[in-house]
Amino acid sequence: MLNIVIFGAPGSGKGTQSKLIIEKYGLHHISTGDILRQEIEQKTALGLIAEEYIAQGHLVPDQLIIDMMADILDRYPSAKGYIFDGFPRTLSQGEALDTMLSERNLAITAVLRLQVNEKLLIDRMLKRKEELGRSDDNLETIQNRLHVYKTQTDSLSEYYKKKGKLFKVEGDGLVDDVFEHITEVINLLSV
Ligand code: ADP
Repeated sequence: MLNIVIFGAPGSGKGTQSKLIIEKYGLHHISTGDILRQEIEQKTALGLIAEEYIAQGHLVPDQLIIDMMADILDRYPSAKGYIFDGFPRTLSQGEALDTMLSERNLAITAVLRLQVNEKLLIDRMLKRKEELGRSDDNLETIQNRLHVYKTQTDSLSEYYKKKGKLFKVEGDGLVDDVFEHITEVINLLSV
């Protein structure tokens, strides 16, 4: 099984590249951001809580996200593999994911870290605001999200580096070029 974590700052292209990866490799896409936005739209208990955090660019509390993920993994027991997009975002989420997977005799195969310069990230998110109207794509929230990424999420790279699972991918270029770098990495993985 091929289980991939796609990792990178907000606006780095995780969602876009995930879609291409699932088409090519037949993985099941789990995007915590997409799931949370659905929960908000459906006004579920989780959605009502998450909405406040997302609007401010803060992370939704770990335990809520971890419980949500465990539930999702059990819904697709026969997937060929997963792509985790937007999860984990903290060390405790990373550790919880490892535990959850090992309880199901699974493991992370690789972590792809998309690297994009900050100016480009901001430009991309402001453009996305015009196209998709995401309420958290305004300048103030974007700046909070980038800060959260730097202070809480980026250190997860170290966690995966120590395990020999971290692969850096240049994310500044055209969508297809970035995807080509990703396929080069995936094709090297022995699964
Ligand atoms: P981006 O990566 O561009 O910030 P996402 O759609 O992945 O966009 O996430 C949007 C928001 O959803 C985040 O800013 C955060 O508030 C919340 N969120 C998503 N995934 C998680 C997670 N794993 N842990 C905590 N909060 C999360």
